Amino acid sequence: MRRKLAAGNWKMNGTSAALAELETLAKAAPPAETDVLICPPATLISRASHVAENSHIQIGGQDCHAANSGAHTGDVAADMLHDAGASHVILGHSERREDHGETNEVVRTKAATAWEAGLITVICVGETLSEREAENTLDIIGGQLAGSIPDAATGENLVVAYEPVWAIGTGKVPTLSQIGDVHDFVRMRLERRFGEGIGRTVPILYGGSVKPSNAVEIFSVSNVDGALVGGASLKAADFQGIIDAL
Ligand code: 13P
Repeated sequence: MRRKLAAGNWKMNGTSAALAELETLAKAAPPAETDVLICPPATLISRASHVAENSHIQIGGQDCHAANSGAHTGDVAADMLHDAGASHVILGHSERREDHGETNEVVRTKAATAWEAGLITVICVGETLSEREAENTLDIIGGQLAGSIPDAATGENLVVAYEPVWAIGTGKVPTLSQIGDVHDFVRMRLERRFGEGIGRTVPILYGGSVKPSNAVEIFSVSNVDGALVGGASLKAADFQGIIDAL
């Protein structure tokens, strides 16, 4: 059976005070068959790992460089994240694709490096509103999956997150059938490329305006194995509500 995953992406939010939210999450009872991941900003990973030690909460990065080390001012390497206590890294988030011009090829190279460092990658895909309106959603998602995931994917090193760009931070959520169509398509593509064994094992998360109030219905959709949550992961009570809905 696939494990479920509730993942929080704090984005560029949080200083030391935010660790109190993590502490609250870490004290809650571990959910059955569900992994819980918090991806704080890079500056907090080390301390967050310490706070989450011996709890059910795992810690992840929000990005890493494609190289292991070198003259890349301001960047963070995958093995630095791993060394700081991270188990996962988010790659190819639409905000990175948009703000930093990350292409599928860049994301793929980063993922290969992250796997070498022992990290699980949460690779993000998603269409813009104009791409959806032009009925190009599945073409875009198919291209992102093909281009962003290296060939060496296994059931253990990969999570895919479907995040429609127009649903991120907007309060707009696709209909359940729109979510289901994309998740079924992602599952089909993963099975076709990596075989049924691997393709069936990779968790597929939905992301974009997930809240405690809409989580139950989103999680009822087939092939939705969890969520990648932005705003509602910043407060422990909200994020715990989403974890409890899984
Ligand atoms: P929101 O939950 O704030 O819409 O953000 C989603 C997201 O981008 C998570 O990576």
